[in-house]
Amino acid sequence: MTKIVGILGGGQLARMLALSGAPLGLRFLVLDNTADACAGQFVPMVVGDYRDENALAEFASKVDVATFDFENVPSESAQWLAERIPVFPSPRALSIAQDRLAEKSLFRELGISVAPFADIASLDGLQKAIEQIGMPCILKTRRLGYDGKGQFRIKTVDDVQSAWHALGAQAEKVGLILEGFVAFQREISVVAVRGRDGEFRAWPLTENWHENGVLSASLAPATDCDNLQETALAYAKRVAESLDYVGVFALELFLKDGELFANEMAPRVHNSGHWTIEGAETSQFENHLRAVLGLPLGSTAAIGTSCMLNWIGEMPSAMPVLSNAHGHWHDYGKLPREGRKVGHATLRADSHAELFEALRQVGSDLNRKAQVEAPISRLKL
Ligand code: AMP
Repeated sequence: MTKIVGILGGGQLARMLALSGAPLGLRFLVLDNTADACAGQFVPMVVGDYRDENALAEFASKVDVATFDFENVPSESAQWLAERIPVFPSPRALSIAQDRLAEKSLFRELGISVAPFADIASLDGLQKAIEQIGMPCILKTRRLGYDGKGQFRIKTVDDVQSAWHALGAQAEKVGLILEGFVAFQREISVVAVRGRDGEFRAWPLTENWHENGVLSASLAPATDCDNLQETALAYAKRVAESLDYVGVFALELFLKDGELFANEMAPRVHNSGHWTIEGAETSQFENHLRAVLGLPLGSTAAIGTSCMLNWIGEMPSAMPVLSNAHGHWHDYGKLPREGRKVGHATLRADSHAELFEALRQVGSDLNRKAQVEAPISRLKL
């Protein structure tokens, strides 16, 4: 019988989950609080607040299993659903990943290196923590921050008051955490999946570049990472097993002087895994669905090398990518808005030389040389 997968959140991740689930014969239902959520362009929706029990009840009555397209679904709502239908990842895993303090504490317990951190409840506490952790450091909201939002960098003592002015009011609402600044050379992510039966697979490591805290480009498999692969995958596996995690997740890591430090985990399919649609044997979206439905997982092997470029704010012209033999286009069907992720492109090629040429061409045609510069610099010709 056709299974209906319910997705809390109707953004581009839900949209790409639905696209990848169609060949599996799946149907979908999205719950979102805005009627124009982009997955709703071809997935039936329940429009309602995530805390509204009537909306949750209608959603639960129509789906066989529920999952998430964003991590900030209230954990009580996830719990409410889990008492009625299967929900993956579990509300417990979700609530730990929603809280930077809880997830960093878990990483440390699991023997995974992290930057020094402290829970901050007051200006006095912030000053004391800075004495211990040192500067530069970053004050972040514990919850509800994403894409660099809800963060303040403290470089000198003069920044402390401004940091408190900017974020102090959040201490009671969502909590604050102070983190030591990791002067990393590279940012790497592991996108991994764990099935209902505990089977674990990870895609090759991805290298990521951010612009104003938002992902700008990803290259996979990350170059010169063979010696890190084992540690990074072991970290991801440890996290997944400790949470009895089911589904896809991403572990974001900083690489500094050969050592990996965990920054955060995203309990869902992740932007740094979008390249897997064209660049891997099985995409993160398909494997997430397989995992939550209890189906066998597909191979996570890469096919050649891929570079994903994010389109932020508005879509550029599609022609340079579409007319490139290695180009793949993803328009999320969203209205343009500053800072919004509206689409991405993936260039996939069998050799570094081919990918280099494709990136150079697309970067030049779109007048986005700066965006392709870093990934290009990694390609060995
Ligand atoms: P986050 O929201 O924690 O993923 O942070 C967004 C970006 O800010 C990261 O991808 C890093 O580029 C930077 N960042 C966050 N935390 C740190 C840190 N402790 N040290 C250095 N850079 C950081």
